[in-house]
Amino acid sequence: MRLTPRKEEIQVVKDILESDEYANADQMAKALIKAVADALWMRDWYGVGTKFREDDPFWLPYGPFASESEALQTVNKYGSGVVARTTKLYSPGRLVAFHEGKDWPGYCRTCKHDATWHMQDGSSRGKCVSCPACKKFKK
Ligand SMILES: [Zn+2]
Ligand SMILES: [Zn+2]
Repeated sequence: MRLTPRKEEIQVVKDILESDEYANADQMAKALIKAVADALWMRDWYGVGTKFREDDPFWLPYGPFASESEALQTVNKYGSGVVARTTKLYSPGRLVAFHEGKDWPGYCRTCKHDATWHMQDGSSRGKCVSCPACKKFKK
């Protein structure tokens, strides 16, 4: 998987590396793995489905790939003789965060919901649909 680290992903790693909360390298390593997995869970990915013939009803799915071009390049390089399609895999983290909220860039600092939930009064970035106490989206 080829991915370019994003600002918010670098920050979660830096927060752990610069922290004094961890007693030893094992604890820090566990925290880093969990934090990186959580950060990558917020990304959209790409999948590749392959099958040997167009009339074959079953796709063999592969993924995730960090970009559609990575998915296509992999298929072009290793998928000779198969039928292949790419598909976008929307972020599982955003699906959950849409309902539960998330402390993450693009989400309200007050109530943790997505900006699209802050349209109750007709203005974008206004009151949150889910949280009566949140009157305005806070970046
Ligand atoms: Zn809010
Ligand atoms: Zn809210």
